Amino acid sequence: MRKGKAKTAEREPVNPGRHEAQCLVCQHPQREDIEREWIDWGNTSRLAEEHGLSRDGLYRHCHALHLFKKRQRNIRKALERMIEHAESVEVTASAVVSAIQAYAKINANGQWIDRVEGVNLNELFDRMSQNELESYARDGTLPHWFSSLVGATAFDSQEAEDRD
Ligand SMILES: [Zn+2]
Repeated sequence: MRKGKAKTAEREPVNPGRHEAQCLVCQHPQREDIEREWIDWGNTSRLAEEHGLSRDGLYRHCHALHLFKKRQRNIRKALERMIEHAESVEVTASAVVSAIQAYAKINANGQWIDRVEGVNLNELFDRMSQNELESYARDGTLPHWFSSLVGATAFDSQEAEDRD
């Protein structure tokens, strides 16, 4: 029974002692790196594999420590990844343009500075399901409802050139 690992302030309710006792991530020597990379939208499966963890275990850890919220707030990082991936992965052109425009408008806290017609990108991300967030982080795929919402509002002066 050791105590006093009060490093990160935001671990609280979810029975932390019990989680920690069973969690390989908590006991992992590179725990901080893993968490940081995950919050920066590192791929869950890859991270798990690289560190000898199970994907489920990593997810459990992230849930228990409320890292999902942090990750979602870290939208800039997600958009950076998406823009980076644009060359190697098939991402629709309009999604990339949306991402770049969105990126330009998001401040360091992940807040959409210029709300267009009341659309708040943070809220959109909040609405995304776990699976949708995962696939977004993995290859930049946005759910249709998302791109249509953002696409419709983020392009003030964009001609609708290739919609179908
Ligand atoms: Zn843990």
